[in-house]
Amino acid sequence: MLQAKKMGASVAGVGDVSIGLASEFKHITKAISIGIKHTISGKQMEKKSCYNSHYFIIDRQLQVIQKALVRQLRFAGWHVLAIPPDSHRQDNSFISRLYPLFPHKTAATCAGLGWIGKSGLLINDKFGPSLNWATVLTDAPLETNPNPILESRCGECQNCVVSCPAGAIRDTHWKRGDSYQSMIDTNKCTKQLEKNKNMFGSADCGLCIINCSQG
Ligand code: SF4
Ligand code: SF4
Repeated sequence: MLQAKKMGASVAGVGDVSIGLASEFKHITKAISIGIKHTISGKQMEKKSCYNSHYFIIDRQLQVIQKALVRQLRFAGWHVLAIPPDSHRQDNSFISRLYPLFPHKTAATCAGLGWIGKSGLLINDKFGPSLNWATVLTDAPLETNPNPILESRCGECQNCVVSCPAGAIRDTHWKRGDSYQSMIDTNKCTKQLEKNKNMFGSADCGLCIINCSQG
């Protein structure tokens, strides 16, 4: 996915996602996965400053790349479905309600760009969890990565487990097909975010991102 990289993507690849598709998407079995690195520093994240607005700017850049790819594929006559970055899924349209059926994590792991870490986040070996993602599903005859990532490469690392103030990370080794929702105790994480909101005025944490040993 040289073109996506030329437009500013930090990582990009194509995966065969037929294995992870909900019935709504069975006709479009390839996914272009695009990631852009956050440039925000650990210190800024710790201070909770510019955290959400920075993510929003990155997601807007992702959408520019995504729209260019969609235009090009549609013009060539292929079916396309763009799954927007996470902060751009706010409307209540029918298409928005389909988005949760296809997570960016599936596209990125199938494209060989990352694995699901113990933190439940998508981990890239160069940038760790510090990437925002967008996905384009298509039936175009694109060459797919023959080496999808099928299981966690966290190994013995436990940095996120020990640094989570809520004890929410369950130290699980992910394999393709596992439900990554159960890797985190979301109630504990949510309670921590509420606590942070009361203490600092902002429901952010991000310690599992800052302390990841990858990237
Ligand atoms: S965001 Fe904070 S509380 Fe939630 S899992 Fe990560 S480190 Fe734990
Ligand atoms: S901190 Fe270590 S265990 Fe946690 S996601 Fe990153 S690499 Fe995996």
